[in-house]
Amino acid sequence: MTMQATPSLDLAELTLRRHCPLVTCGQSVLRGERLATASAPGAGDIHTPIAGVVTHVDAYRIRVEARGHDEVEPVDLAALSGKALYDKLLELGVDLPPADAVDTLIVNGVDAEQGVLTRASLLASTPEPLEHGLKTIHALYKPRLTTLAVLKGASIPDYDIQLTEIDHNYPAGLDPLVALAVTGIEAPDHTEVIGLETVYHLGRVMRTGLPVLETPVTVDGKLAIVPVGMPVSRVLGEAGIVPAEGDRIVLGGFLRGEAAALPTQGVDRSAVAVTLVRNPAPVAEDVACVGCGECVRRCPARLDPSMITSYAEFGLYDKAAQAHVEVCFECGLCGFFCLAHRPMLQYIRLAKSELARARSREEVAL
Ligand code: SF4
Ligand code: SF4
Repeated sequence: MTMQATPSLDLAELTLRRHCPLVTCGQSVLRGERLATASAPGAGDIHTPIAGVVTHVDAYRIRVEARGHDEVEPVDLAALSGKALYDKLLELGVDLPPADAVDTLIVNGVDAEQGVLTRASLLASTPEPLEHGLKTIHALYKPRLTTLAVLKGASIPDYDIQLTEIDHNYPAGLDPLVALAVTGIEAPDHTEVIGLETVYHLGRVMRTGLPVLETPVTVDGKLAIVPVGMPVSRVLGEAGIVPAEGDRIVLGGFLRGEAAALPTQGVDRSAVAVTLVRNPAPVAEDVACVGCGECVRRCPARLDPSMITSYAEFGLYDKAAQAHVEVCFECGLCGFFCLAHRPMLQYIRLAKSELARARSREEVAL
């Protein structure tokens, strides 16, 4: 099943991740109008996939209820190149790392997590935006090497780009390990890894002149192209899946995904899947670490997740930074193997986000 963009969406809820709202409650908006601007480098802005009225704005989300079908005018991107194109693409909602001094550009076409097949399905179906996106990204970054990382043995159509084969074993498909596989160096300089879904977004924007309004996700083992902001319960409903009491809807896969706060939470463009976890047991809780050391043995980044998460739990984010939390590539294995079922990845993401917030405050103060 490939769901097409749904113009009849009656509600869209856009998740803000370090974005500042540009609209207020009661404001009418056109389809494609910018709702929020990013406050982090390389993050794209956020736009509404439906025309309507803004009915809720807070620090975490903007909700739009559908009214009418009027749309913004497409932007003519053909005349733009270099920095002007890069800035316009960020404004149109494409997440792109800074384009300076990139020597090796890796497009990650590997679905690292079991059960997620978004990238493999996109590659196999050769959608036109993907071809467009691959050409544009090479022109934008002008790297010495552009390579497409694919699973070892995968049979994919010819995209006229050098391929690098990646091992099947989790977490080999995660960005830092893909960069290691391509360059032979841990955390190499002048190397950027960009997810295939971002290249898809880029290609769509280049082709239509409209902002990112749709995103590819895996739902029930199949690829679906859904409007950004489509409520997760509706995404599952379109696939014939009805959550029962106690089930969790997860944005992403089983190991690395984030539980949706509400069934109305919208799909954001970083979600590669919408997954239903039936009656999860045991549920991770804020319980004490029992010091078994299992997470330390399992961490592929050679960190001490027990210490990092304990620092995060008690708000000691500077200590988490000293324990190299930024090196964590969020594979989720420490949480998977934690004997006490502590919410390891959640603590790690909390520490990272608080450290990023502190950095932005310092930048503003300078
Ligand atoms: S998520 Fe846990 S196991 Fe994975 S790299 Fe980070 S600290 Fe290590
Ligand atoms: S696996 Fe869990 S309980 Fe064991 S040391 Fe790590 S955090 Fe503590």
